[in-house]
Amino acid sequence: MSVNEEAIAPPRTTKLWDVAPQNGFALALHGGAGGQINELSQESKASFEEGLALAHGAGRAILARGGSALDAVCAAVEQLENNPLFNAGRGAALTTDGEVELDASVMDGVGRAGAIAASRHAKNPVYLARSVMERSPHLFLVSPSEELVAGWGHETVEQDYFITEPRIRQLARIQELRLAAPRHGTVGAVARDSHGHVAAATSTGGMANQEMGRVGDTPIIGAGNYARDGLAAVSCTGEGEAFIRGVVAYDIAARIRYLGSGLGEAVTQTIANELTAKDASGGLVSVGGDGRVVVAHNSPTMFAAFEDRDGLVMLT
Ligand code: ASP
Repeated sequence: MSVNEEAIAPPRTTKLWDVAPQNGFALALHGGAGGQINELSQESKASFEEGLALAHGAGRAILARGGSALDAVCAAVEQLENNPLFNAGRGAALTTDGEVELDASVMDGVGRAGAIAASRHAKNPVYLARSVMERSPHLFLVSPSEELVAGWGHETVEQDYFITEPRIRQLARIQELRLAAPRHGTVGAVARDSHGHVAAATSTGGMANQEMGRVGDTPIIGAGNYARDGLAAVSCTGEGEAFIRGVVAYDIAARIRYLGSGLGEAVTQTIANELTAKDASGGLVSVGGDGRVVVAHNSPTMFAAFEDRDGLVMLT
């Protein structure tokens, strides 16, 4: 789908995958609901699948040896941040000024959370968000300084590490054609580990051609990312403003908690009420407290990877 086609595409049928608990652990990840950008169209479907499979494998290996859901989602997201095909870390979407400002958050099921917005220095924003959670008394830092990032032991990079040629071409095209619908994408992962804990991590460059300083749902706990043991972990992608207004990730957990809904029903209702009914587009990956996996989107496409009984399922 081209940039123009997306700008005029009406919403939206929800596509949903619902996989019953299997191994005692579960992992699902997404690579954004914005679709493949035109400027990357020379990249084959196989390259996206390879990136998703690598990220899934990194997280799954941790879960399979009894590691934590938090470690697994961070490892999966790190892989996607390092892959220039996805809108997070290297290859992230550019702001109106042609720069990169990155947002990320992590949450584990026992109620700890960390987030960063407008991050410019950390190579892997997901681990910076995790450091906010583990190494500071705070939850959410905006525009963290290079000194802080380096002081916490994170690799720092210059802007030109993040900025890729296809993203420069994408921005030029959006600005030249004055496209109304900004292009988006985000990466994220949810997991349940064999100890029964869940976690979620989400990371993004935001919307292509967004104003400097614009922050979407990705680093906002409850909107683009949420985890609570016994209920669910959710990681979202799509039009961030709608996810914030609808408090989408938490709305799903709240339906389970207060209405006793199943995960599939909760996801279906939240997407219908908070996205489709508001003419907004996006999707999410989620895992229930019992390890059930539900993946859904009302956008035309969403990159995602998860396992069902027959093995790895990839949506591209
Ligand atoms: N939700 C992200 C944002 O609004 C973008 C995306 O997921 O496509 O920043």
